[in-house]
Amino acid sequence: MTVYAGPVFDMAVQQFDVIADHLSIPTDERERILMPKRSITVSCPVHRDDGSITVFEGYRVQHHLTLGPTKGGTRFAPSVDIGEVAALAIWMSWKCALVGLPYGGAKGGVRVDPRSMSMRELEGLSRRYMQEMIPFVGPRTDVMAPDMGTNEQVMAWFMDTYSMYQGNTVTEIVTGKPVSSGGTLGRREATGRGVAHLVRRVLNELGIALGGATAVVQGFGNVGSHAALELYNSGIKIIGVSDHTDALYDRNGLDIPVLLRHAAAHGSIAGFSNQLRYDPAAILTLPCDVLVPAAIERVIDAHIAENLKCRVLAEGANGPTTPEADRILGKRQHEIFVIPDILCNSGGVVVSYFEWVQDLQQLFWEEDEVTRREYQILDRAFAQMISRARKDRIPHRTAAMAIGVEKVRAGKAMRGLFP
Ligand code: NAD
Repeated sequence: MTVYAGPVFDMAVQQFDVIADHLSIPTDERERILMPKRSITVSCPVHRDDGSITVFEGYRVQHHLTLGPTKGGTRFAPSVDIGEVAALAIWMSWKCALVGLPYGGAKGGVRVDPRSMSMRELEGLSRRYMQEMIPFVGPRTDVMAPDMGTNEQVMAWFMDTYSMYQGNTVTEIVTGKPVSSGGTLGRREATGRGVAHLVRRVLNELGIALGGATAVVQGFGNVGSHAALELYNSGIKIIGVSDHTDALYDRNGLDIPVLLRHAAAHGSIAGFSNQLRYDPAAILTLPCDVLVPAAIERVIDAHIAENLKCRVLAEGANGPTTPEADRILGKRQHEIFVIPDILCNSGGVVVSYFEWVQDLQQLFWEEDEVTRREYQILDRAFAQMISRARKDRIPHRTAAMAIGVEKVRAGKAMRGLFP
């Protein structure tokens, strides 16, 4: 029993056990690779607009520092707990190693519904959370980024708070910042663009023409909306979209640029159209070529996996598929091509890495350079995953995670165990 115990952490452990068995990692080495190096829990008291004070619980977990600093997003959501944060940190480690970044994984979060706060309250919470993290993070120790419920504005507050304490501007402490505050061009779009790039590649390999192909996207935040827009711009019909408020279905294809403007103005897709409203629970099992879960974890369980009617499952979210569902997808691998999360959404951390490099060098790139290099890294990792899956006759997720775990394991073996 660990402090991390819970359904999401258990899922990360189960996934790791599959890989460790596949790689025949001795039992005494497993814990060293899997268990987070360190974690911190903080209380963040915040002045509310009505004069009262609320204390929010915040976390940060650093999985391993073997290959460089840790890197990972910060999530503001009511469901956040230390186990979820630890699982997300572990997945970040496999992801960074898979795509060849000099990072270990980290993740952070605050148990809060950011939609229930005013901008002033949110700023207070963001600054207090970062202030509590100062002894724990740093550009060479742990670099934060956005995740669910946080955005460029929150990253700017994090960066400003850290910089005020240091006495000079330290842009490289967080990524996903606004371009005006040391962010990189192409970061906002990076995760969704990466998802769409890999989807296009898989559709080409499957011989499915982009024009006429259909897609369903769950989640219309940073990842979902940019993935939907990129797919739409590639000629793919987006027939279904959902978020935490509503779901929409149009067999002729939704007008994504108009939906984006609606979501930007109203904060969600709610109220877009009464005629197109659809059962959110049924959106994942709509017949389509591409399904992009881009919201929360564990939405594809065994029952949904049995009933999926897509050709490609492109995991924009982290951990959207449970291990039970994975076993079913393993049996359906000739029907459904899975692009596993640690590859599919890795465009985000790849471009975060570019942002960190540019901040350290104070030398900034053009957007097409950012995107070209992002796609190059994704293509390389995709090719490695496919060839490993074919060689070892294993599912894509096992192949992708095996490559990531092997790199972390090799790094630890070469450095040895201190003292
Ligand atoms: P976000 O906060 O910008 O958007 C989340 C979206 O999910 C919102 O549209 C929200 O309404 C929707 N949502 C929440 N609960 C839902 C539910 N039960 N059903 C349907 N929709 C629901 O977050 P994001 O940054 O887009 O992150 C989404 C996922 O992608 C997370 O799993 C995150 O860890 C992962 N991810 C994000 C990035 C990034 O760069 N932002 C990178 C890699 C992975």
